[in-house]
Amino acid sequence: MDLQSGYPYSLIRNGLPFNYPWLETDIRTDVAVIGGGISGALTAYALTKAGISNVVVDARTIGLGSTAASTSLLQYEIDTPLYQLQEKVGVAAANSAYELCAASIGELERICKALRFPHFEKKHSLYLASYRKDVSWLRKEYAARKALGLKMEWWEEAVVLDKMGFSAPAAIYSHTAAQTDAYLLSHALHQHNIRHGGAVYDRTAVVDMEFRPRSVVLKTAHGQTITARYVVIATGYEVLQYIKLPLLKLNATYAVVSEPNHAEEQWYNDCLIWETKSPYLYMRVTSDHRVLVGGRDEPFYNPTRRDKLIHRKAAALEKDLRKKFPDIRFHPEFKWTGTFGSTEDGLPFIGAFPPMPHTYFALGFGGNGITFSQIAANIIADLVQGKKNPDTAIFSFNRKIRHSR
Ligand SMILES: Cc1cc2nc3c(=O)[nH]c(=O)nc-3n(C[C@H](O)[C@H](O)[C@H](O)COP(=O)(O)OP(=O)(O)OC[C@H]3O[C@@H](n4cnc5c(N)ncnc54)[C@H](O)[C@@H]3O)c2cc1C
Repeated sequence: MDLQSGYPYSLIRNGLPFNYPWLETDIRTDVAVIGGGISGALTAYALTKAGISNVVVDARTIGLGSTAASTSLLQYEIDTPLYQLQEKVGVAAANSAYELCAASIGELERICKALRFPHFEKKHSLYLASYRKDVSWLRKEYAARKALGLKMEWWEEAVVLDKMGFSAPAAIYSHTAAQTDAYLLSHALHQHNIRHGGAVYDRTAVVDMEFRPRSVVLKTAHGQTITARYVVIATGYEVLQYIKLPLLKLNATYAVVSEPNHAEEQWYNDCLIWETKSPYLYMRVTSDHRVLVGGRDEPFYNPTRRDKLIHRKAAALEKDLRKKFPDIRFHPEFKWTGTFGSTEDGLPFIGAFPPMPHTYFALGFGGNGITFSQIAANIIADLVQGKKNPDTAIFSFNRKIRHSR
């Protein structure tokens, strides 16, 4: 698949911070992780922490899947508002999903601290009603989240105007959010894992899997084998090579970052901003004082069509930003596009897929895929150790298998 193109800012800023070899010999390990993006990196980290030997392999150069394109906002809010998710999957599962996402932001903070990774910043997040008609459901959403004890404020129109300097009919101002650099964090996690006995091979595509009674043998494109007790599939949107179910809807999404402009001086609390309309617009200020704006999604997977739209979409995003902040000096410097997948209920797929023994999936889908990647890492580390994880059912493939019958 063609996952991204243009000039993803994290890739431009960080380049290739580390090199990894490709796999040249046959090897054995407890767990083989296919995919070295943020999902594979976090899972390998959780396994390493649990003392389980693991090897990560990636068909690309590390990080050059979706992770390099990520704008790295960390929010507990998933693509489906909580009150709607409660209707779709039940109150208990929906509440747990939101609580797990909120907890995963704190866990990511602790991981970044442990790694001495400096690119993690705690933030607040502003969820704006795009239209007056959205205010009534946004109130419902606020009540549902409040019942969970999530720290938030309800802002009326006058408060939005007073704090932000632009108008919106209402907003939820959340105290739990953060931003990071998912591409660089993936490298930091891999480097940690390598120092603690793990191995990472890139430019090493897995082309075949053989399931044996007590192991799985992976075959690489260069002809080597990896024999593992368990396999974790962390291949992002490319999972469709393994599972022929309609798990995902693929979209094209766009982002643009300005030259450094110290916009945070005009920006209330330097918060993350997003809104209720679909597709939604989002913006944040980077640690090097640039404004990053993203959104303007298109409902298709067609890399040629997607890429042709980069300049037009970046111009539209700039206009969107200017409508809210006409006084910010916004000179676009880098623009990019990426493929982006979301599920019907907004939840990812994590855990076992019965036709594939000894195999677990770590799929961080949706607008806040990174928080899901962290949840996947926790669940899979438990499953590999034979521990029961109470959250498994929420993200199970069973919900898709049931619906596709
Ligand atoms: C423009 C954009 C903005 C985004 N912004 C945000 C955001 O602000 N916040 C957020 O939480 N999420 C965001 N996302 C989503 C987030 O980036 C993804 O959820 C996340 O990067 C997925 O990581 P991953 O490791 O699962 O997948 P990937 O990064 O795609 O990694 C999967 C890896 O698997 C490898 N692979 C596939 N098949 C094989 C094989 N057969 N053998 C070996 N290797 C294989 C691929 O080469 C790839 O490197 C954004 C996405 C895009 C495109």
